[in-house]
Amino acid sequence: MTSVDILPSGGTVRGTPDQAELVDHTIAKGFAWLMFPAELERRFLRDMAPKRFLLMVIAGLASIVLFASVIIADYLMMPSVVPLALFIRGLVYGPLIIVGLVVLHRMNSPAFNEWTVAGAGVWATLLQSYIILQGTGPWAVARVVELNIIVVYTCALARFWPAVVLAAIVGAMHVLLVGAMPDGTGILVPTTTLLMVTSTAFVLYGNYKLEHDERMAFLLNAREEALHAELKATNERLTRMATTDALTQVANRRYFEGFLDECWQRAQAQRRVLSLMVLDVDYFKLYNDLYGHQAGDRCLVGVAQALSSSIRRPGDLVARWGGEEFVIVMMDTDEVAAAAAVARIREAVAHLGLVHGASPCADRVTLSGGCVTVRPDAQAEWVQLVQMADEALYRAKAAGRDRIVLTGDDVAPDMTAGALA
Ligand code: GH3
Ligand code: MG
Ligand code: MG
Repeated sequence: MTSVDILPSGGTVRGTPDQAELVDHTIAKGFAWLMFPAELERRFLRDMAPKRFLLMVIAGLASIVLFASVIIADYLMMPSVVPLALFIRGLVYGPLIIVGLVVLHRMNSPAFNEWTVAGAGVWATLLQSYIILQGTGPWAVARVVELNIIVVYTCALARFWPAVVLAAIVGAMHVLLVGAMPDGTGILVPTTTLLMVTSTAFVLYGNYKLEHDERMAFLLNAREEALHAELKATNERLTRMATTDALTQVANRRYFEGFLDECWQRAQAQRRVLSLMVLDVDYFKLYNDLYGHQAGDRCLVGVAQALSSSIRRPGDLVARWGGEEFVIVMMDTDEVAAAAAVARIREAVAHLGLVHGASPCADRVTLSGGCVTVRPDAQAEWVQLVQMADEALYRAKAAGRDRIVLTGDDVAPDMTAGALA
């Protein structure tokens, strides 16, 4: 049965009012520490995860090539460490990065991924430092500048806080290296240290700005999504209100007319059969007079439920036509099926057992109705079908009420314009 209760019910997974409020609150409060409230933070990391992981794979593989290419500097500045450097650069650094990427892919933990970016930087720093420590001579300490490359490369990719941690570790390593290695020139330690401090500060500042902008873009996007979802839910609620009868919760007249029009066009185009039933509660004014308007309302709700439960096929429609009158549209329903529906309806209404002490035709609430089955041709209009069902209803009333008159092909064999004229 298609009554309005199967119209879109609204509600969305994302962009709930709670989320919208949280997003607004976060924008208003700011996020100077680059942290959102836990729920939003999880969503941010999750939303960014696919793009971030792709970036990690590309940067991770590129870092293997970069780290290996520093063998040129090893060869030019410390030829004696080349065999060791070859081993470390070719067989130690790269495999761990690749294994790490595979493990991260399996773990699928966006927050952990962000920290492993810094972890890879630390790994490169340790290996690079070990190679540098093997160097000798007054210029050997100059190679600490290579740690700058690691800091800049990794901090450009990592999230801000992992980048800060990495920068602190690389800075500490720089201090250790310059402390452990003699500076034969006297100027290498201060200049490399100045370079380390300034490059780290700039790259961290850029990193902070970038992540702040990225987070703000995420919030604005989330707010737009939430507003969109809210608008959609409101629209659906309004549509529901505009198409549902407030008392009985079945479709209202407006929805019925649109629905019948659509069915009619489909039936015309594909030469399909269609049935329409118009039903009217007998002596309903007397019912109201005897039991009161509220009891009358309850009676109408009961009748609507009885009708809905009798019309079970998806694609059929029960609607309140107005007052104590209901209509039922049944697509692909011939006279035999319509007669079966009529029997079910009569039984369901009788089953309600609503006493009607003022009815001249029965001691319970009863219905009169007209049911028409047609296969419309291209010229016919659905208002003619409604008229025919209404006429059948009046025949039922004239015959003493408490009955549904069926009008099939005998009355409107083809429902051509001629037949209806
Ligand atoms: P008939 O058997 O010829 O159909 O007579 P009737 O009394 O059922 O029909 P009539 O058209 O004379 O009266 C319909 C009554 O339905 C009058 C109106 O007050 C009542 N009615 C219409 N809408 C509502 C409603 O929403 N709630 C209630 N309680 N009564 C309603
Ligand atoms: Mg009436
Ligand atoms: Mg009536």
